[in-house]
Amino acid sequence: MSIVDNIYNPERECMSKEDRAKLQGEFLKKTVERVYNNVPVFRERMDAKGVKPEDINSIDDLKKLPFTEKTDLRDQFPFGLLAVPQSEIVRIQGSSGTTGKPIVAGYTENDVEVWTEMVARAMSAAGATKDDIVQVCYGYGLFTGGLGAHQGATKLGAMTIPMSSGNTQRQIMMMKELGSTILCCTPSYATYLGETIREMGLVPGKDIKLKSGVFGAEPWSEEMRQHIEELLGIDAMNIYGLTEIAGPGVAFECKEKHGMHINEDHVIAEIIDPVTEEQLPPGTPGELVLTTITKEGQPMIRYRTHDICTLDDTPCSCGRTTIRMGRITGRTDDMLVIRGVNVFPSQIESVLVGVNGVAPHYMLIVDRVNSTDTLEVQVELTDEMFSDSVSKIEKIKNQIASEIKSVVGIQAKITLVEPKSIPRSEGKAKRIIDNRKI
Ligand code: AMP
Ligand code: ZN
Repeated sequence: MSIVDNIYNPERECMSKEDRAKLQGEFLKKTVERVYNNVPVFRERMDAKGVKPEDINSIDDLKKLPFTEKTDLRDQFPFGLLAVPQSEIVRIQGSSGTTGKPIVAGYTENDVEVWTEMVARAMSAAGATKDDIVQVCYGYGLFTGGLGAHQGATKLGAMTIPMSSGNTQRQIMMMKELGSTILCCTPSYATYLGETIREMGLVPGKDIKLKSGVFGAEPWSEEMRQHIEELLGIDAMNIYGLTEIAGPGVAFECKEKHGMHINEDHVIAEIIDPVTEEQLPPGTPGELVLTTITKEGQPMIRYRTHDICTLDDTPCSCGRTTIRMGRITGRTDDMLVIRGVNVFPSQIESVLVGVNGVAPHYMLIVDRVNSTDTLEVQVELTDEMFSDSVSKIEKIKNQIASEIKSVVGIQAKITLVEPKSIPRSEGKAKRIIDNRKI
């Protein structure tokens, strides 16, 4: 395939809105028929709502369909949601989720192909070509990050280095010696790699040849993007995905860095009010709900991601016509409620990244003392600040506390800790310890 202006599949990514809606309608109809006929739990739900496959003829009919939840994947574990015979499944991926039983997703050969192209589109949008050297430091295994990025990079014909996560010194040695040009990992690990590179005395642009990074799998802020871009001297792009739908590549940023283009020929996105479950218009924040329309193995109908974001259907100057999703600003289910105030770790992160003298490594510790919620924000001082005067450090503490108060609306206890004392993550960062007994 010839790739035009970094657009991997212009025919699909740049189609007119009308043509796309028609295509989505046809694919949706086929998916619903298949799911109704092959997945008992979906059939029961549709019957309970009085909806038949013949009622679904266009994307406007989507709202008639019942939702799917993560609990459905747990309840039907492992194969209860398959819409094809088990022998058609060539791959299982999974996620530990945040609680209890794992969830798994089965892929047919075609599902792997589709997913691979979705990631190839993302990498292409980040400027990757067959001449690039792509270092994948997402974990390989059940987690979709490693294999997803690997397949996408290989599809582009790029030289792909399957480093997997961990062993930071070795990652950097390989990055330097092999001349990696594209980095794929979580944004928190990108920060850690960047800092370690600097500590090792290596100079991005000279010893390190990275030009861009495709980062995702966890929430991050615009300020964090700037920090990573400066640390590594690269363009840092956001990529979004989840095991239930495909893995990374559901949506990705183009060079405009103005929201992630959703691969709408494979996935239909809606934003709903999480309480009323009504659809919300583009521009209004709410819960992202995704429906797969080409997936064979384990299709998902109106899957409630619990991720909060907005959709943007204004034109993008890159030429892609797909709708874009903004950054995930939180989740409806891991949002912290502290003294009745909704707190998203990303809000705190954006404050911390803007403060000189602290590094963006932090931990939020929530507790309840005498029936009152408390929030402690532990954040690392930079090496330079650590050896500075007590009065200067006190000033930083007050600055952080007052900015958190103005952004989030609650008083937090700020604890400045030694450089490198907060555990580093090689995958998704763990940033919250909630000690409250609810
Ligand atoms: P998993 O299926 O284990 O890979 O987890 C998927 C979840 O990771 C999503 O539902 C999001 O909550 C989160 N996630 C993935 N990519 C991003 C991203 N780019 N920004 C924010 N959160 C993300
Ligand atoms: Zn664009």
